[in-house]
Amino acid sequence: MELRTFGDPVLRRKAEPVETINEDIREICRLMVEVMLRENGVGLAAPQIGIPLQIFVLDANDEFHVVINPELVERSEDVEETQEGCLSVPGVSAPVARSTRAVVEGLNLEGQRIRLEGEGLLARAIQHEIDHLNGRLFLDQLSMARRQSLIKEYQRSKREDSA
Ligand code: ZN
Repeated sequence: MELRTFGDPVLRRKAEPVETINEDIREICRLMVEVMLRENGVGLAAPQIGIPLQIFVLDANDEFHVVINPELVERSEDVEETQEGCLSVPGVSAPVARSTRAVVEGLNLEGQRIRLEGEGLLARAIQHEIDHLNGRLFLDQLSMARRQSLIKEYQRSKREDSA
């Protein structure tokens, strides 16, 4: 399963809600966990493997979370600026301000309503993955100048990789 990277239009689409949690959806979730582990990611959203559906997976404290049709229901006013990167923009990172606490609600693989509360890294990951499902990347949180320079750095490192 190929990881989609910066420039791929699927990363800029708003993901569609999942209507029925069936065997296909469960298979997608399995693949997502597989790719997340392979790439050593903290989280992964379905568009990152080319599937424009509202699903994300997280690996927090050695526990996997699958959240289908997630909704951010709470976010602290307290923010923290920490270095952040993304599997879809490999090789670059930048400080991004995020709420220190975030709560998401959605469905699990059995279709049951779940609520996931996160602080610190988990809160950051929740907000990062929700952004993916809205077609947003962490780069969008940066100032225009910073974003431009990071994109240049990314393109340079990509050229070196393929050279
Ligand atoms: Zn990402």
